[in-house]
Amino acid sequence: MPLSSLAPAPPPVPTRRAVDSDRRRTSASAILRSVLAHGPVARSTIARLTGLSPASVTDHCNRLTALGLIQEAATLRRSNGVGRPHVPVDLDDSRFVVGGVHVAVPYTTVALLDLRGRVVAERRLNHGEGKKEGDVLADAASGLNTLLAAAPDRVPLGVGVATGGWVDRDSGTIVEHPLLGWRDVRAREVIHALTGLPVHVDGHARALVNGERLFGRTAGGGRSLLHLFVGNVVDAAFATHDEVHHGPRSQSGAIAHLPLAGGTERCDCGRTGCLQAELSERTLCRRAREAGVVRTSDPMHVLAAAADGDPVAVRLLLHRARMVGRAAGLLLDVLNPDTVVVTEMGAVHREDCLAALREEVGPDRAAAVVPTSFPDSVLAVAGGSVALDVLYRDPLSASSSTPSSTLSIRSSGSSPGTI
Ligand SMILES: [Zn+2]
Repeated sequence: MPLSSLAPAPPPVPTRRAVDSDRRRTSASAILRSVLAHGPVARSTIARLTGLSPASVTDHCNRLTALGLIQEAATLRRSNGVGRPHVPVDLDDSRFVVGGVHVAVPYTTVALLDLRGRVVAERRLNHGEGKKEGDVLADAASGLNTLLAAAPDRVPLGVGVATGGWVDRDSGTIVEHPLLGWRDVRAREVIHALTGLPVHVDGHARALVNGERLFGRTAGGGRSLLHLFVGNVVDAAFATHDEVHHGPRSQSGAIAHLPLAGGTERCDCGRTGCLQAELSERTLCRRAREAGVVRTSDPMHVLAAAADGDPVAVRLLLHRARMVGRAAGLLLDVLNPDTVVVTEMGAVHREDCLAALREEVGPDRAAAVVPTSFPDSVLAVAGGSVALDVLYRDPLSASSSTPSSTLSIRSSGSSPGTI
């Protein structure tokens, strides 16, 4: 037997292709992220920021330009006034949008977001009494189609769906959302069938971590970040080095039944003082109704009463903020993140609530706690971020796979919900 036949076989071609394709995806992602964070930016600066060769940056910029994701910026920049002018590149935010769907307990938010994560259109769809999951999702798809029909110059790249509870990203399923009473709802399948667009589904706490990573105040930090979402659903998400932790079947972040010291609220699970029961907006509204502050179940009315100087409303909000601070402290003990982003109505809209929350966390760690970067659009951003995260991770395939199906739908002029 000739010795050469004992030599290891060369790797099969597909493997090398897979490696090349991985590298292309990673490079394109790094370049698009860099343009998002620094644009308008010179290609030479992108090369320095990403560690890629100038030739590779030029090549990728050409591809991203051909796809319509970036463009040469209008202004010319000269380096020290001599030599060839450097034409910086910037995002082309005029053409593409993504759809965002966020399913809350009382209503669904549908929105269109541009490539900078800015909300360009938004609608709230109330669930009403006893509406089933199929109807809620059909309404969401119809709402999105209406927003798209009103923006004929925009091309949708895909749809992101976010909600609380247990959401499995890989199967596109809302596995369990106890407050809605949903189990194994195939949200990806349903929304795709009704819009014709690629659909991605994730938990809203994780979606908002991606929103913060891409578009928030701490964007591009790449450090560890914990997000605590406190609405009717209370859940959390954690990311290190740009990666959000999902765990098996995307079950991470389920903190609804963690015990909260000092909690007095009875939980459906039979115990008292579970985090979600204690902190949920339902509980806040019920306490506010019992105290005669409001007559509704809308937490914004409690906030409005506090803004009007109602001392009981202020006290309820401050108490809730302190309890949220206690929950944040627990999670800080477990995970020790660099930053804790809190999405909680009081802390987002009132300085005194944010101060109370930070005081409860303690002076050493108070500075690590910040409110969401999206105070006025957090639910729209949650939905849209699911799709934008996919785009920024793999811009070459996420943007090149859409137009044919999209354009046929967009030009058909059919009424929303019949697609
Ligand atoms: Zn419980």
